[in-house]
Amino acid sequence: MGIVDGKVAIVTGGTRGIGYVIVKEFLKNGAKVALAGSRQETADQALAKLAEEGFADNVMGIAPTLTDPEAVAAAFASVVERFGRLDVLCNNAGVSSREKLVDYTMEEYDRVMDINVKAPFVCSQAAARIMIEQSEGGSIINTSSMVAEYGQPAGCGYPATKFAVNGLTRSLARELAKDHIRVNAVAPGVTKTDMVAALPPEMVERISSGIPLGRVGEPEDIANAFLYLASNQASYVTGVTLRVDGAAMT
Ligand code: NAD
Repeated sequence: MGIVDGKVAIVTGGTRGIGYVIVKEFLKNGAKVALAGSRQETADQALAKLAEEGFADNVMGIAPTLTDPEAVAAAFASVVERFGRLDVLCNNAGVSSREKLVDYTMEEYDRVMDINVKAPFVCSQAAARIMIEQSEGGSIINTSSMVAEYGQPAGCGYPATKFAVNGLTRSLARELAKDHIRVNAVAPGVTKTDMVAALPPEMVERISSGIPLGRVGEPEDIANAFLYLASNQASYVTGVTLRVDGAAMT
């Protein structure tokens, strides 16, 4: 029995990186999980990998276009049909950006805004409609970033989206509290997904030495924060952006 035992969760971007580990930790802790991928093929590949790791049950894959309200509503309805209810939405899917302002294209700006801000809005709306009808509350957890505290010296669209995520989080927490739907965000620092793991060890060491806790985060560190915020142990916590960054300050 785990801290999210019996809960049904949807995790966007659950096919790899932090999202994949969130899916695994939720399954380990007793939840039923729908992972959302950008394509059904990548969702199916993630399901196959989970099965290899011993997590074949209580998990399904969906692949709606996350900015399309009708596609998202239909995919979320299929989760309720399969698992009977919906308790938790983890808005984890996200893309970053490195372009300098003078080189930014509108395509790049829209790409980052769409997946990082519009998608959490669309998915939160679809999930809240289901949760309000169930009348048993729920938990929506967004993914912010340490850059929503400090900005970054290039790729301004990315921190702009994460500041927006914090605003969405605070506002929806206030709006949905009467329905007992808690809305929080997790703000990871540098986290060892494939991209960070592929960096030369000396670069990872340099990054780590600037972090007060002396290491970059593991995806499990981030997944544990999602688990807590999804669980009943966080029943009086809403509107919070929880930093999980080893007290990094850049
Ligand atoms: P990742 O690139 O490994 O995974 C991103 C996930 O988002 C993938 O599953 C991908 O399929 C999904 N995704 C991307 N575009 C999509 C689209 N158009 N439609 C549907 N799904 C899409 O990245 P990650 O590091 O695991 O990042 C996960 C979240 O954590 C993101 O929101 C990211 O901004 C945030 N974050 C990561 C770090 C870090 O250091 N890794 C730090 C701070 C915040």
